[in-house]
Order: sequence, then structure tokens, then C-alpha cells
Amino acid sequence: MANNAAKPKFSLRLLIDEEKNRVVLAEAGKDFVDVLCSLLTLPMGTIVRLLEKHQNPQSSIVGCFHNLYKSVSGMDVDNFETHACKNLLMYPRSAKASYCRKLKLNIDDTEVTKFFVCPNFISTEACSKKYSNVSTSRCSCGSSMTREIQVEGEQADGCLGDKADGVFVSCRTSFVITDDLKVALNSMGLVLNVLNDLGYAGFDKLQEMVIDVGFEEVLTLLGCLFTSEAPLTDSLLRKHCMARKRKMLTPSVQETGITTGEADKLLTLKVYVRKTDRVILYAECREDFVDFLFTFLAIPLGFAWELSLDNVNMGCVGNLCRSLKGLSFEQPEKSKVFKFVLPFFYDCRPQFLDVDVEEIPEYECLINRKSYGCSKLCKKYQKNVLAQGERIAKMISMDSKISVASDSTSMRLVKGETNFIVSDDLVVNPMNSSSTVSLLSKLQMSISDIEEQVISFGKSEVRDPLHSII
Ligand SMILES: [Zn+2]
Repeated sequence: MANNAAKPKFSLRLLIDEEKNRVVLAEAGKDFVDVLCSLLTLPMGTIVRLLEKHQNPQSSIVGCFHNLYKSVSGMDVDNFETHACKNLLMYPRSAKASYCRKLKLNIDDTEVTKFFVCPNFISTEACSKKYSNVSTSRCSCGSSMTREIQVEGEQADGCLGDKADGVFVSCRTSFVITDDLKVALNSMGLVLNVLNDLGYAGFDKLQEMVIDVGFEEVLTLLGCLFTSEAPLTDSLLRKHCMARKRKMLTPSVQETGITTGEADKLLTLKVYVRKTDRVILYAECREDFVDFLFTFLAIPLGFAWELSLDNVNMGCVGNLCRSLKGLSFEQPEKSKVFKFVLPFFYDCRPQFLDVDVEEIPEYECLINRKSYGCSKLCKKYQKNVLAQGERIAKMISMDSKISVASDSTSMRLVKGETNFIVSDDLVVNPMNSSSTVSLLSKLQMSISDIEEQVISFGKSEVRDPLHSII
């Protein structure tokens, strides 16, 4: 990215109470509201990464997601199915990335997904059947798929309305945003209501102020979403977000494993519980549970909030989600932004999360025998575009297969047949590189106070650990 001066800024009109040093409300155009929408599409792992870069590592801002992310970054690549699997967790892909790239300000700096084919794809028909999004994949002929290929019209799906519209919001109007991030279409009546609710009889104590909001301010705002009841005041006037202590992973042992039938049991783990207060200290588990935990890094913020059933403390994320969903979209296809899907790379154990996984995209490739440079991927070519010496090949992704364990139909992120140990605050370590003795001695507890239990998670219970993850 270029230096700060080159980064776009928005003007935001604030109504502030100078005495209390707080934002009463903000008036914004569609560009800024589009940026707010885009925050909900960011994968949780991306949020951890961006916030870490932006300020001193404040681990508690996004709770245990931070520990999950650190576990991935600290874990030897040997423990992952492929190098690409680790990369997909460190730099999670968003299914809405192509939308976000059209924003005036896109804070997600994750690299654009590239496409690779076998170097022999022009000359050999068998080599022109598959593409990969990873340059280390191997073609059936044995060559590495290192040849990058361009994708024509790699745009957000379908037509997005005319250019005067926003990316996510289509209304040609302005918006009112309250300090606790409720977004609504601007109207005089609404402004009066907001002022009334906050106890202002008139404008005598209030000041108007127009400020520039850019990359730094949006990142501070992103942090404040989780920690502040007044994110606009904290990010724009006080210019910092406070870290706050959060509840850690303590799924209730009593509740799990009782209510659902055996057929629903999908995951089993051994937990070590402190007898006195029934708190889980550590869990020993296999790769399936770790895949499940690590997939949390790929889920978008808006979906994390939906999963949380609104009863965990996610600051003002709920206000933002609810109010943006409630905006009336004149073009219904735009409301698709709130239909959260995971890119197909993360199709490991989706049955636990009830999240839709994107279909594996198929492309056609225009293959020009004479010139590699003319060959491009496209969703659909018209037959009549073919010039002499050109042909069209259907190409499917090979990445959905690349990390499939031989004995199952689902993808894996971490290597199979591995035991892991997970702490109550979601620090994950493979057993082969962590010392159980030192973990136990660190607890400084009487051995008789630790009890071993086996618990099973069914689909209906799988939200429990998520509740406490944030
Ligand atoms: Zn090949």
C-alpha cells in the first residue's frame, strides 16, 4: 500500500457535545456506510491481523480469536496438511473480497487470490482441465502448477447497479449514525428523535464538526466495535480503543453431552476439569476439533455475531449488524452482503457451523495455441469469440481435493492422526511439541483437584464454545 497521504479519506459530519467530549451523531454518505458494511464481511483472522498491526498487541480486543491466530502462526508448518492451509488461516480469504476491492477505502490488505495452471496447459489437453489457487499444487502430469493465469471479469457476482450506487448500499441518500453505531437513512425526524432521546432540547450545547476519516481511523473504529459502547467518540475524538477483559472458554461441562441423542455426536474430546469450580483447564483432542476451531478464523465478523446469538458481549457489532440489515435495499441483490458464506477452501467440517460454503467456481479457459499471454480464464465464453488456433477448455479447481484425507470426503487444515492440547483460552498446541509436565506444573494445583472427563459435542452444542470464544 502507498503511504498515508495517498490513502482515501472521507468527510464525516459530526455533531458533538464539546462539554462531554462525545459524538452525538454523525452524518455520512454511502461511501462511509459501505466501509462499515465491509467490516462485517472481514474474516475474524483478518481482524486479528489488522488490529495487531495497527496498535500495540492488545490481545483482549478480539478475545480468544487472538490466541487461535497466534496458535496458527506459531505452529510449525509440518502440522498442517499443506503450506497453503496455514496460509489460508494466516491470511483468510473472504467470499466478499471482490466487493470490497471496489470500495473507496478497503482496509483488507489480503492479497488477491491468484490462479495458476500447469505450464503444459497449452500443449497437453490433460493439463488444461484443472486450475489451482496455490502455486505449489501438482498437476496430474507431475509438474508444479506455477503458471499464473489472468481471470477475465473477476468481479463481484452479477451486476451491481450503476456507478452512482455504493458497493453494498444502493440508496442515493445520506445516513445518520449514532455513537453506538446504529445506522439509518437520514431524515429530520430521526435526527430530532436521537437528540430527544439523549436529552438535548436544542443545539446550544452542540457543535458541528467535519472531520476526515481514513485508513487509521477506520482501523481504530474496528477495534472500538468490540470494546466500546461509544465507538465514534472513542475512535474519532479520543482516538484509541480500550482493551477489556473477556470471558474465556469455559463451556459448561454439565450441559454438554446430556441433551442430544448419540447420532448427533460429532466431536469427542478429553477435558481436564478443576473439581472445585468445574472450569475446564485443558482439552486433549484430535485434528477434527482443531480444524473446527481454526475455521473460526475464516468466518466473517457478521456471521460470528449471528452465531453468538446476540448474548455474548460483542460491543456494538450487534447494533451495526442489525441496523445495516434493516436498511431498506432498493436492489434486493445487494442485501446478499449479509448472506455470509465461506470460500470453498474452508470446506472442512462445515456441518458444525451451519454456514454455507461457496460453490467451487468453474471456469472456461480460452487457450490460444500460439500465445500464452492470450489465454485467460472466464466464467463463460461465447463460442463465436474463438479465433483460429483457439479452443475453450473447462477448468475446475483442484484445491478442493488437494488436502483431502484419503479416508474422508472432507478437507483438512491440520494433519490427521495428531493429538492436540487446547487451553481454556484457546491456545492450541500439537502434543508432539508441548510438554504436558510443564503445563501441569504451571497450573500449580493439587493433582487431586484435577478430574478427567470425556465430553462429546453435537451440532446443537457446538455453539457453546463459540459463545465463550469472543
Ligand atoms: Zn500438467
